[in-house]
Amino acid sequence: MVSGNQNPNTTNQILDTSNQIPNMFSLNQIKQTLENNDRAFLEDLARQAASLTKQYFGRTISLYTPLYLSNYCSSHCTYCGFNSHNRIHRMKLTPDEMHHEMQCVAKTGIKNILLLTGESYKATPLSYLTEAVEIAKKYFTGISLEVHPMEVREYQQLYLAGVDGITIYQETYDRNKYKEVHLSGEKSDYNFRVKTPERIAEAGIRQISMGILLGLGPVAEDLLALFQHVRWMEKNYPGVEHSISFPRLRKIKGKDFAACPVDDKTFIKILCLTRILFPRVGINLSTRENAYLRDHALGLGVTRISAGSNTSVGGYDTQKLVPQDPQFDIEDSRSVKEIIHVLKQKNFDPVLTDWRPIENSVVL
Ligand code: SF4
Repeated sequence: MVSGNQNPNTTNQILDTSNQIPNMFSLNQIKQTLENNDRAFLEDLARQAASLTKQYFGRTISLYTPLYLSNYCSSHCTYCGFNSHNRIHRMKLTPDEMHHEMQCVAKTGIKNILLLTGESYKATPLSYLTEAVEIAKKYFTGISLEVHPMEVREYQQLYLAGVDGITIYQETYDRNKYKEVHLSGEKSDYNFRVKTPERIAEAGIRQISMGILLGLGPVAEDLLALFQHVRWMEKNYPGVEHSISFPRLRKIKGKDFAACPVDDKTFIKILCLTRILFPRVGINLSTRENAYLRDHALGLGVTRISAGSNTSVGGYDTQKLVPQDPQFDIEDSRSVKEIIHVLKQKNFDPVLTDWRPIENSVVL
């Protein structure tokens, strides 16, 4: 370990990664990494992250598309356009509309879908979600959900319906900040949310994606808490495929909610740190990030990216003529075809299908 006033130019001087994958970084190590802008240090960090990514994932990048089923929400999160106090046009897709939307996405060749809702237990109950999953199975081979937290028995029903993965972000692990920005509704229950990954794993769901909303809370502290949480999950649920996402807080209608903004350089360092600590964990990158950053982050740890995204309910087909507020503005609006083209140009292998249900296999 070096003192703060020296200028370490290799990651080993800060992170001590010379012999093996570290079990955990200290808060001080994370802070020193995030604050260090020495060119040689950054190059070394990127080199290590790139090497581990190549070792464990080769040149593969999985693609998925998000599909919003509903924007009803009973919670009041100050940073989100869907919050219950915002006067936006609320809607949820009917089964017929789900078919239309999913057909549009499926036509692009995408086989992994992420179905999202606002967090309304009343508007989008378990029965609504299982129906959406049943419909999604007709078009996609990988189905993930990003919806309100549930009990184990409810996750078990989703698992039996065909859900492969659940995304659940803690947003921030800082309890004071959490309370300050989650004013009302079910989401204001920190304890229920923080134990959600555990309940998902107990239910037998195979993939869990965890994350923090960068910009909301103290970055280094949140990062450490997330790392500890993921490590704990890995130890206790080794059969689960874990992945990590780092959505960055975006402006809503010009209003900036980022109390602790994270610039691009810091963002890339966070991706690299994550890869070095978790060589086998998937790292997702959404279209919240612009095309330039996404293209340059490839190979530094990212293993899964969204493509052809729309963040409005019915945004692919159903509501084309009805102006709607998206949850956040997309920064990378390239189509699936364009993203595949870029990936191939950069010598990556775009993966559209990870696996197929066995009953769909054709024996020749
Ligand atoms: S972040 Fe989720 S729970 Fe909070 S207001 Fe937005 S949709 Fe609702």
